Amino acid sequence: METSAAARRLAARFVAGDTLEEALATGQRLQAERIALTLDRLGESVTSLEEAAAARDEYLRVIEAVHESGAEANVSLKLTQFGLDFSRDACRANVEQLVRRAAELGGFVRVDMESSEYVDRTLELVTDLHARHGAVGTVIQAYLYRSRADIEHCCERGIRVRLCKGAYLESAAVAFPHKADVDRNYVALMKILLERGNYPAIATHDEKMIAETKAFAAARNVARDKFEFQMLYGIRRDLQRKLVAEGYRLRLYVPFGKAWYPYYMRRLAERPANVFFILRNLFRR
Ligand SMILES: Cc1cc2nc3c(=O)[nH]c(=O)nc-3n(C[C@H](O)[C@H](O)[C@H](O)COP(=O)(O)OP(=O)(O)OC[C@H]3O[C@@H](n4cnc5c(N)ncnc54)[C@H](O)[C@@H]3O)c2cc1C
Repeated sequence: METSAAARRLAARFVAGDTLEEALATGQRLQAERIALTLDRLGESVTSLEEAAAARDEYLRVIEAVHESGAEANVSLKLTQFGLDFSRDACRANVEQLVRRAAELGGFVRVDMESSEYVDRTLELVTDLHARHGAVGTVIQAYLYRSRADIEHCCERGIRVRLCKGAYLESAAVAFPHKADVDRNYVALMKILLERGNYPAIATHDEKMIAETKAFAAARNVARDKFEFQMLYGIRRDLQRKLVAEGYRLRLYVPFGKAWYPYYMRRLAERPANVFFILRNLFRR
């Protein structure tokens, strides 16, 4: 799929291009609309430590380029791209180089959250790097039962949290199986973050979650520069523009690179209507 030009064109809805230069050009367009970005160089679950080191070098290039461009941008990454499946120590050393460089340049590294088997290792690594360098934060998923405790852990240490619902297929042993419970937990966790979190990111396209956030922020006098909304590149542009027009901060998650397949499949799985969108476009010239 990743080498097929036709498939690549379909992925273009969610992916900003193959190269860093294309992603930065997208970033410039977004900034003109007063939208910040977090760049994700696609790739996860590498198959060797050599690949992990190459990913680290690529990300160093991204961090430098973001700094030079002066864009309101940071980076998002996944630990499995840096060798977590092979060696915790090698992964830590790779990511530490990135966090140290980001800290030197006044940047920020967001460590995405992958499936539940990685949560302990992700929090442990982020907590350690945050204590030593700052400039790093993570993501908490509202669908996991454990997330309230993890949010408390991050709030106590001033670790920046992006709150999302969660994108992986999880069992009922660890995650709420029903959407209504995930949504209820999302609102509860959002409230903790807005009151006690360090510049939290409320990442969702769900208008109900957004309305709850706005209402809670207004009721508790949480200023609009004390948190930001985040959305994915290519999803709900109407809602994105509306939030910016209303004076809220918005950051888009902008993935780029050739390894788009797993990211793309998660976006399709979230919303079956996307599959029809794809099929329709397949039959259009
Ligand atoms: C900035 C950002 C970073 C994220 N980082 C992570 C992460 O690190 N780990 C992780 O597990 N998950 C991550 N996610 C994904 C997240 O967990 C959800 O899977 C995803 O955001 C969909 O949930 P929702 O909050 O938009 O609500 P939903 O209830 O799923 O969707 C609400 C509405 O949003 C729209 N929508 C949602 N998804 C799509 C889609 N794919 N295509 C088209 N329309 C859609 C639809 O209109 C839908 O009705 C991230 C999401 C965002 C926005």
